[in-house]
Amino acid sequence: MKIKLSKTKYLNGLQCKKLLWYIYNEPEAIPEPDEATQAIFDQGHEVGDYAKKLFPEGVEVDHSGSFEAGLQSTKELISKRVPIFEAALTYKRCYARADILEPVGKDKWNLIEVKSSTEIKDVHYDDIGFQYYVYTGAGLKIDKCYLMCIDNTYIRKGDIDPNKLFKKIDITDEIKTSYSKTTEDNVAEMVKAIAAKTFIEIGVGAHCNDPYDCPLIEKCWSFLPERNVFLLYSNKKLPSVLIKKGILELAKIPEEYKLNEKNKIQVDCERTGKPYIDRDKIKEFLNLIKYPAYYMDFETCGSAIPLFDGSSPYQQIPFQFSVHVVKEKGAKTEHFSFLADGTNDPRPEFMSKLKEVMGTKGSVIAYNAGFEMGILKKCAEVLPKYKKWVESIEERMIDLLRPFRDFAYYHPKQNGSCSIKDVLPVLTDKSYDDLEIGDGITASKEYVRVTFTEDNQDKDKVRNLLEEYCGQDTMGMVDIVDKLYSFTK
Ligand code: SF4
Repeated sequence: MKIKLSKTKYLNGLQCKKLLWYIYNEPEAIPEPDEATQAIFDQGHEVGDYAKKLFPEGVEVDHSGSFEAGLQSTKELISKRVPIFEAALTYKRCYARADILEPVGKDKWNLIEVKSSTEIKDVHYDDIGFQYYVYTGAGLKIDKCYLMCIDNTYIRKGDIDPNKLFKKIDITDEIKTSYSKTTEDNVAEMVKAIAAKTFIEIGVGAHCNDPYDCPLIEKCWSFLPERNVFLLYSNKKLPSVLIKKGILELAKIPEEYKLNEKNKIQVDCERTGKPYIDRDKIKEFLNLIKYPAYYMDFETCGSAIPLFDGSSPYQQIPFQFSVHVVKEKGAKTEHFSFLADGTNDPRPEFMSKLKEVMGTKGSVIAYNAGFEMGILKKCAEVLPKYKKWVESIEERMIDLLRPFRDFAYYHPKQNGSCSIKDVLPVLTDKSYDDLEIGDGITASKEYVRVTFTEDNQDKDKVRNLLEEYCGQDTMGMVDIVDKLYSFTK
């Protein structure tokens, strides 16, 4: 086999040599990217297109033909000394296509990689280090190495301004001092691993999701029992240690492993199959609730490229709320909701409608309340007339996540999660499984799809599904609180 390593495969190899072996030797075992991964790729392309606007003279290498044609056309563009997008060069076993090559002076180039993240990550050094290794090996003189990533302090005003959307981070020193030799050594090891008859058995662990979710997780993790040690709540390190020792089942973690208080409760519940209930802590929490109680939930959307004036990259913009009001303990609920229509910034109407329904006294209850508070505070920055009101909401706010995050209640069927998606089904007969839109990411994606794309034949259907989903969150909170009351009797 003639092995050629692209940057993506090199990064795959750094994450896991078993994955790399499969890519070359059994590619049919690698599933197609799922929708979420595809959405990340699509966003990357959109960000890349804006970065190209910073180089109006730039020319993109045509990669629609043969591999050799791409190399040839790169060669020609290099001689013309114009900015080049996706310049293809090879060196030894490697093949690189950096996002942007910018000519500098008479014969030098800046190497620029564009990322949709807002800060530099370890993997970016490996990424640019690989491009640098190939380009310099192929004979280019690289002056500077830059990571061009999203500047989340940028606030959109009118059309997107690529000069402000991006920030350039100079990592020339790090790349030039550390990466040529390291990359060469890594490549040699990877070539050996690929050429081997079979893959190197690498145990499963945290590296399966770091820096990327590995596409082979389903295959590699299939040996684990359903109730396995990776279900340990908020514990990233211990599961890998246990797996290496052959301890796979959550219920069978030996006493010698000192677990933290929450993990201990979890493992005890796993062994008995019964929930843990700390009635005093639950009572203490419930005593915080003052009536009328307002159960509140938001749905938001956000992307690398800000959608509306006055918003920043990745800023979450609220487009929907659901509020269930319980006037006094045990009383029937009243429901209020809002779902933005049209392509205008939804925040002014969202804030005005929400203020109308929230009353002036009584508790405001949200699940993971920090999220809702963060959204309100950000809205008040662009709509300062709501600042005082937002402060008053914060004073009334109670986080329903608290009794679950503190393990005042834990049921083994929560599977080590305190998310409302896992808590609601164990405390009530409700579940998110039957909802066509049953999670925040899908809600956001579907809202953006039917709002900003032409193809919105199914708009009414999606809007109904969004109402159903957001309403379930707040009604679910009411049910959870009722259930908590029942534990204290
Ligand atoms: S799932 Fe983990 S062990 Fe398996 S190939 Fe992927 S990274 Fe390697």
